[in-house]
Amino acid sequence: MFQPRSGLEVLPTYSVEEISWPIRLDANESPYDMPPAVKAKVVETLSSLQFNRYPELTAHSLKTTIAAGFGLKAANVLVGNGSSEILEKLCYAFGGAGRSIVYPSPSFSMYKIYAKLADSKPVPVALNEDYTLDADALLEAAKQAEASVILLCNPNNPTGGVLPPEQIEYIVANTQSLVVIDEAYHEFYGKTSVDLLGKYQNVAIARTFSKAYGLASARIGFLLTSESIAQTLGKVILPYCVNALTLATAEIVYNMRQEYAAGIAENSRERIRMAAALSALDGITVYPSQTNFLLIKSDTISEIIEKLSAKGIGIRDFSKVPGLINCIRSGVGTPAENNAVLEALTL
Ligand SMILES: *Cc1c(COP(=O)(O)O)cnc(C)c1O
Repeated sequence: MFQPRSGLEVLPTYSVEEISWPIRLDANESPYDMPPAVKAKVVETLSSLQFNRYPELTAHSLKTTIAAGFGLKAANVLVGNGSSEILEKLCYAFGGAGRSIVYPSPSFSMYKIYAKLADSKPVPVALNEDYTLDADALLEAAKQAEASVILLCNPNNPTGGVLPPEQIEYIVANTQSLVVIDEAYHEFYGKTSVDLLGKYQNVAIARTFSKAYGLASARIGFLLTSESIAQTLGKVILPYCVNALTLATAEIVYNMRQEYAAGIAENSRERIRMAAALSALDGITVYPSQTNFLLIKSDTISEIIEKLSAKGIGIRDFSKVPGLINCIRSGVGTPAENNAVLEALTL
């Protein structure tokens, strides 16, 4: 009888509870829908889209627009159905059977799955107690495993912390592996490793429209890298993979990205306010975050989860996950949503 390919039967299914919480702080989404000016332009553009035609074969228009924003060429850019897809394909193209993929842990839970899907060996390297990274330990693990890829999430999901720029460069300069820097939360942080592209051949930067640009529904992300890496990766990306509706929408969002600046700034102010207010509560630790979410730890985390869910507030529960024991991740919402969190925990 037919059987799934080896390894698949033990692969965990990505499972998050799909509950429609009145206040959704569980997926790091933007709390705001598209700014009206952007939405008007999107609707106008989509209304004249030729739905009977395939999209551009290689998404040249969006790639050119994004490249211009970074002073790069279209040949340095790849787009995918979310940065998830690009990261997965990257593991296919540069991982593969018998190879290893190294990443700090805890970090984005999908890295392990991408590695396994590519038949590669996932090699997590534990972060320090305070969730900082021991770069030498990571490099040593990569060397031991002869890793073909190192995945760094900066800022890191779900801890919220950042790697100092010099630490990232130290890693890139001292390894033969391809170092992928997942900057899904870049816009909330401000710093980037894009400059390393001009200096090193073993770097790729992943970005997404799903978080700061509030386009999680459309599934679109991109990768910035050398022409040669982009060309190789292009071989495992299917033609026409990103649909024309998404391509058109993302291009408008990218061109109008200044419309998002106020919302991003508000989110950062709210994060600072929430971190201070939550830290002031008895028995709660809030980790430093440069993102749109906070990692919160408490010995009484189950009670906290109860109180939040009783008020219709959904968060991501990591409290039983090794490395994140007694932790939850809570997104930073609108000021009203954040007030609801504080009320739920103080009343
Ligand atoms: C949300 C997220 C992504 C990917 O999001 P897409 O919606 O697939 O673009 C990638 N990496 C990290 C760390 C994330 O948190």
